Amino acid sequence: MESIDSWIDRDLKHLWHPYTQMKDCETLPPIKIDRAQGLQLYADDGKAYYDTVSSWWCNIHGHNHPRIRAAIQQQLQQLDHCLFAGFTHGPAIELAERLVDITPENLDRVFYSDNGSTAVEVALKMSLQYWGNIGRPEKSRFVGLDMGYHGDTVGAMSVAGESPFSLPFKAMLFDTFKVPTPYCYRCPLGKSPETCHIECVDPLERLLADHHQEIAAIILEPMLLAAAGMIAYPADYLRKVAELAQRYDCHLILDEVAVGFGRTGKMFACEHAEVKPDFLCLSKGLTSGTLPFAATLTTDTVYQAFYDDYSTCKTLYHGHTYAANPIGCAAALATLDLFEEEDTLARARPVMARLQAGLAEFRDLNHVGDVRGIGMVGAIELVRDRASKERFDPAQRVGMQVFRRGLAEGLILRPLGDVVYLFLPLCTTLEELDLILAKLHGIVRDLSSDLTVCETGAHP
Ligand SMILES: *Cc1c(COP(=O)(O)O)cnc(C)c1O
Repeated sequence: MESIDSWIDRDLKHLWHPYTQMKDCETLPPIKIDRAQGLQLYADDGKAYYDTVSSWWCNIHGHNHPRIRAAIQQQLQQLDHCLFAGFTHGPAIELAERLVDITPENLDRVFYSDNGSTAVEVALKMSLQYWGNIGRPEKSRFVGLDMGYHGDTVGAMSVAGESPFSLPFKAMLFDTFKVPTPYCYRCPLGKSPETCHIECVDPLERLLADHHQEIAAIILEPMLLAAAGMIAYPADYLRKVAELAQRYDCHLILDEVAVGFGRTGKMFACEHAEVKPDFLCLSKGLTSGTLPFAATLTTDTVYQAFYDDYSTCKTLYHGHTYAANPIGCAAALATLDLFEEEDTLARARPVMARLQAGLAEFRDLNHVGDVRGIGMVGAIELVRDRASKERFDPAQRVGMQVFRRGLAEGLILRPLGDVVYLFLPLCTTLEELDLILAKLHGIVRDLSSDLTVCETGAHP
């Protein structure tokens, strides 16, 4: 049998991993995973890791679920893939019906692609061309939150907040409007939950009042800015944004790539505010983390603006080779079936409640600035100084320290900067949650006392 070391040598010889300073692999090489089951990933050396980040926010029903596996196998016996212009197939049709059925009632058109970034690009392009098609081409600009994240393609980066992720590519991004993020812990207006009346939406209102004639759409992640550091925000903010979009005749694009499919406690996060977007972007959880797949949903109004004689040049010229991949559709259909068969949302409810309550026990630890969360997501923001909320020096790489300690404890924790978080599959049981929370508490407690020692210089 080939040794682990030789596998890693072969990996490092040719592979380039995402979001990775490859030099870090000299001291922390990638871990070779051989199989997965339920909440756990099993490494080559037999060690098991709890997948507490749902393998980048996509796993819903647990790894290697027999129901999804069977659906994929069955689909493969019939039709692997076919082009989706001029042709169609049963799984695509059935999935579209199901998605229209479970999403807000105004959404009744489904456009398939294969990842979250493309789901967003499709919404942006549809919105822009919609305004052109109806004779208002001046409505061509986009508004996003200054800490939003929508993927790594050019359009998605352009409508997102500036971050180290997008900084090197600034020269290729198009200009967009940005408004303040409802980041309650670091409230842009210095308010507290008691004094808050969602005044942070005012800059958006002023922007729309001045510029709505040139604005195509507002895009945001409903209820939770995930990549920004698991920033959960009040439903009232989302409600107000939706009202403003409607009042000023701008599209509302909701990016539910991370939060869709139950993660926040509702099937879709927009349900918390009973908001009806013009576009809904779905991906990650859509196949419960088994296959790359995505969908952008929109309204009949948008669709009708493209529907005309060919010669009027209103066609949407956008597509992806693997659009509506039948195997992906089959995995998505099985994912939706499982929500019904296993009563996933109802079963997750007590686990979500315990997670949110359990987070409170982190509050008093040194260096814990904020704890926050929604549904199956919980986050702990570590800070250098609790009173001033001062952040750690990035050179200290606090997140990396948490990652290492997590691995030693059998937890996959990949902090976002200094925000340690859990983004758990919906199938997590109370027992699993308790175990994960206990381990996490130990990690954060030990880390924060080590950091304190470091800060006071009592330690070499
Ligand atoms: C992950 C993510 C994306 C991008 O999805 P990819 O499949 O990685 O391209 C877009 N929007 C949100 C909110 C995300 O969390």
